[in-house]
Amino acid sequence: MEFESILLPGVEDKRPIIISGPCSAETEEQVMETAKKLAEKGVKIFRAGVWKPRTKPGGFEGVGTPALKWLQQVRKETGMYVATEVATEKHVYESLKYNMDMLWIGARTTANPFAVQEIADTLRGVDIPVLIKNPVNPDLELWIGAIERLYNAGIKKIGVIHRGFSTNDKTVYRNIPQWHIPIELKRRYPNLPVICDPSHIGGKRSMIKTISQQAMDLNYYGLIIESHRNPDDAWSDSSQQISPETLAEILNELVIRDKVQ
Ligand code: PEP
Ligand code: MN
Repeated sequence: MEFESILLPGVEDKRPIIISGPCSAETEEQVMETAKKLAEKGVKIFRAGVWKPRTKPGGFEGVGTPALKWLQQVRKETGMYVATEVATEKHVYESLKYNMDMLWIGARTTANPFAVQEIADTLRGVDIPVLIKNPVNPDLELWIGAIERLYNAGIKKIGVIHRGFSTNDKTVYRNIPQWHIPIELKRRYPNLPVICDPSHIGGKRSMIKTISQQAMDLNYYGLIIESHRNPDDAWSDSSQQISPETLAEILNELVIRDKVQ
């Protein structure tokens, strides 16, 4: 597979590329305030979940389509690019209708070939960068299968997100990194950009910096980090979200060495 760059115009091709924003779009105010603070810190790509695949029923499952208008507003007021998660044909249609700049496929969806194929078929002929999270289970072939489904539908601007793998064991991580899996993927597809998601790997604020540094030491291309204007009040993934100020501190302290293997 020959991938094309996922970079959007004006985003510097410099490691790490940064994608940040809340786990979920909750309210217009929360989205706008978080976005403005991130833009002030130099973030160029804003993320927010509009449809939230929750492990169990009863949690906040996202605002849905109305939140896409808030993301459009972010784009208009801050100039940031906007990215959201899609899991179904309807999500793709709505996201394209509201001009999302980038899409990602969540870990639970990557594990489902029918869902990935549906997304790929809906995106056929559309020129948009798509990031594919690793499946929840540590199955490299299933991850590659999802990449191939998108690629075969003509999507060439593909990146992957390493967000760690589910485990029943008690570990310090929320999702164990199993670094050898994305490293093997990088070995097989050297021009595939790999982005680390320290938020979902660590599951807590205190681990974001260390995991981000590890990803940089492994030559990852970028980081996707959850941030919120007031992390303690977040409606999902509260314990792992950080403020835009903390994000800026962490990014400033990262040591970026080129070509460390
Ligand atoms: C998210 O990015 O908020 C999310 C739901 O992540 P994952 O698919 O990695 O669990
Ligand atoms: Mn999340």
